[in-house]
Amino acid sequence: MPEEPPRALNKTLTFGLGLPLAYDARAKTLANLEDNLLKTVYTSLREASETVAMICNIETAKEYAKRILGVPKEQTDAFKASIPAVKRRLDRKTCLSGDAIGQAYMLGSKPHFMGEHGRELLSKGTRQLSTHRTDGTHPIMMRATGTRLFIDDKTFYIAFRIFSAEWAGKNGVSNWIAFPIKIKPRDKTMRGQLERAIRGEWKLKNSRLRKNPRNRAPQWIGQIVVEYTPDPYKTLDPEIVLGIDLGVTVPAALHIRDHGKPLPWAMCIGRGRDMLNTRATIRGDIVRLLRALKSKDSPLDDRSREEAMKKLRELRKREQRVMKTASQRIAGRIADVARRHGAGTWQMEEIGADLKEDKPWLARNWAPGAVKDAVRWQAQQCGATLEFVDPAYTSQRCNKCGHIARENRPKGEKKQAHFECVECGHKDNADKNAARNLSIIGIAEKIREAIKSKSVVRMDETSA
Ligand SMILES: [Zn+2]
Repeated sequence: MPEEPPRALNKTLTFGLGLPLAYDARAKTLANLEDNLLKTVYTSLREASETVAMICNIETAKEYAKRILGVPKEQTDAFKASIPAVKRRLDRKTCLSGDAIGQAYMLGSKPHFMGEHGRELLSKGTRQLSTHRTDGTHPIMMRATGTRLFIDDKTFYIAFRIFSAEWAGKNGVSNWIAFPIKIKPRDKTMRGQLERAIRGEWKLKNSRLRKNPRNRAPQWIGQIVVEYTPDPYKTLDPEIVLGIDLGVTVPAALHIRDHGKPLPWAMCIGRGRDMLNTRATIRGDIVRLLRALKSKDSPLDDRSREEAMKKLRELRKREQRVMKTASQRIAGRIADVARRHGAGTWQMEEIGADLKEDKPWLARNWAPGAVKDAVRWQAQQCGATLEFVDPAYTSQRCNKCGHIARENRPKGEKKQAHFECVECGHKDNADKNAARNLSIIGIAEKIREAIKSKSVVRMDETSA
C-alpha cells in the first residue's frame, strides 16, 4: 500500500455571525456597541467592503493589462486610479486597517490567474475575468495577525482588526470588532473544529468577513482558513469495517467499526446541493432544447433541428462527465477516510430496484451506478475488500436496538433526512443511521433473521 507522508492541508470553515461588539484586543474584553456606534460600524463595514472590492478590481485590471494585453510591468506598476472617489480610498484615507488593505492588495487579483481558472483564462482564453462587486457584499480579507478566535462565557467569538486605529480613535469605536459565532446546538463538528483552531492544533492562516449576499439571516458571515496535518494512512485491517450509505440528503454517509467497536462519529461526504446545482444548470438546458424539438406550435426547420440535436448530444455528454467527476471525487474521499482509519473491509448497499422508494433523492438526482463503479475502483486501488449488502431494511433498522420498522422513517418532504426509532426512541440523521448499520459485519444476515423470526431481535452496538 502506498505510504503517504503527512502533508499540511487547508480547510475553510464558514459560519454565521451575530451582532457586532467592540473588542479590546489588549485587555481581551468585549463591550456592547451603543446604537449610534453600531450604526457607525455598519456603515463603515459597508464602506470597508466597497473599498476592498475597488482595490481588487483595480489589481485585477493591472494583472489583466500585464498578463493578457502584454503591457510592460513598469507601466502597470505606475498605474494609478484617476477617479477621485477611488483615489481617496486607495490613498489610505479610509476606515480600513492597514492589515485589511494589505490583504486586499495581495489577494485581490490572485484567484483569477491561478489554478484551473487561471489556465483557462490565460492560455485557453475560454474564461472571462470576474468582477468584484462593490455593493457591500465583497468579503473583507484579514491576516491571522488581524484575527482572534476565542470563547467567552461558552460562546465562540471571532474578532477582526478591521478599522485603522486612527480612524477608530476619531470615531470613538474600537479598531477590533468582534462577532459571536452562531453554531447550531447539535453541531458538534463545528464546535470541535473551532476548539482545535483556538488551541492552535490547527493553524489559523487567514480569515474573511462578508455581508450575506442573500438578503437573509445571518446578516454577516465569517470564514477562517486553517492548516492541518491529516492522520497518516494506516495499513488496512480487514477487521476494521467501513459502512458506506449512499445518502438521501447527502451523496454518502460513512461509519467505521474497529473490530466490532463503533467509532463515536459518522460522517457525511460531499455536499448534495452543490452537486445538484451543477447538474441542474445542464439539465435545464437539456429540457429547454427537448421542448423546442418537440414543439408543435413553432416547429424548427431542418437546420435548427440539426443544430439542436448536436447541442443536445454535447450537453448529455457534458452531464455524464460532470456526474463522473463528482462520483470519482466522492469515492476518492471515501478511500481517504478508509485509509486514514485502516478500514480493510468496506460494506456498501447493493443498489437495486427499490432505490426509488428508499432513496428518492439519489434516484432522482444522481447516477448511483457511477458512484458504485468509482468506489469499486478505489477499493481495488488500496486493496480493500468491497462487499455489497442487500439494502433491504438497512435504512429502516435502528442501529441502537435493531428494531426494523417502516415507521422508523417518518414520511414527508422535510423528514426524509430523519430517523426516529418507534421502539427505543433513538434519533439520528437517516443517512448516518444507515451507515452505522452498514458497518456491522453480517448485517444482511442479521436483518434476514430478524425479518424471518418476525420478532425484534435485540442487537446492541457492542454485540453487533
Ligand atoms: Zn431503536
